[in-house]
Amino acid sequence: MELIDGNKIAADIIAELKTEVTAFTGRKPCIVLVRVGEDPASVSYVKKKEKTAADIGIISRIILPSATITQADLEKLIDDLNADSTVDGILVQSPLPKHLNEPAAFRRLAAHKDVDGFHTLNIGKVAQEDDTGFVACTPAGIMELLARSGTDLKGRHVVVLGRSLIVGKPVALLALQRKAGANGTVTICHSGTKDVASLTRQADVLIAAIGRAEFVTADMVKPGAVIIDVGINRVPDATKKTGYRLTGDVHFSSVSPLTSKITPVPGGVGPMTVAMLMKNTVKAYKAHAS
Ligand code: NAP
Repeated sequence: MELIDGNKIAADIIAELKTEVTAFTGRKPCIVLVRVGEDPASVSYVKKKEKTAADIGIISRIILPSATITQADLEKLIDDLNADSTVDGILVQSPLPKHLNEPAAFRRLAAHKDVDGFHTLNIGKVAQEDDTGFVACTPAGIMELLARSGTDLKGRHVVVLGRSLIVGKPVALLALQRKAGANGTVTICHSGTKDVASLTRQADVLIAAIGRAEFVTADMVKPGAVIIDVGINRVPDATKKTGYRLTGDVHFSSVSPLTSKITPVPGGVGPMTVAMLMKNTVKAYKAHAS
């Protein structure tokens, strides 16, 4: 069994981006991070994005509207950023407070600045295999982990657990694309799927993104499979200072010995998401500058 080291692969991508950005003369790429309210997970994600941007040499601007901002005011803010020629990428941190319409906010972004890849046009471009758009960061990170760990999907059965718009659906579309490294035969499972285990047992490559702690057990896995565990779940654990431990959607200790390659949690898909956001920002800058 080989561990797919997301920390190492993300660090490689960040180092490559730093080299690229250092060589840009004049204005450097700029991302604006909009965080509405004080959701604790969002505070830590935005900090991490800010720090990674600084490490690369990407300028980041943080805008912190109050949790009571109206939809109209948020959209006005987005319109202003869309019109600002010094801004290459805009990220509106999810989740927004409940009174706001998140899909409408994402659609309001100029598609060519939507580095998080949630605008309808960018999701559509993934379906059309049009590389000019932005792929959402987590599915893009999964494809990069597969490519950089030498996993070619061609001719292989890829089973995706979960059909969310941020992970399951886009990663299934990417695995299905005709391009080199992809070309998989894809099955998607969701809460309406009958006998999930009979499908996961057929997977040469299993991508688990359902948000259920340690759902995938040894009896659900074909020996020799490659497993990408996207799940990040908090499980109560009295032995930890925080009172919980993080676990994936896969029961790692029993499943990993059966696999040929597997991502750990933490340290697998998680670090890739921020790296791919930075990659998208540099892509937006280059398209903007050309
Ligand atoms: P989500 O929006 O809650 O979607 C979960 C999907 O799993 C849904 O499609 C749901 O089916 C399906 N599902 C739930 N229980 C199931 C079951 N028992 N059998 C089969 N399918 C089932 O979650 P998400 O946003 O995609 O996130 C999934 C996990 O990935 C979470 O743990 C999240 O924290 C993690 N995540 C990690 C990263 C990262 O950077 N590493 C990024 C994003 C998400 P229905 O559609 O039928 O409801």
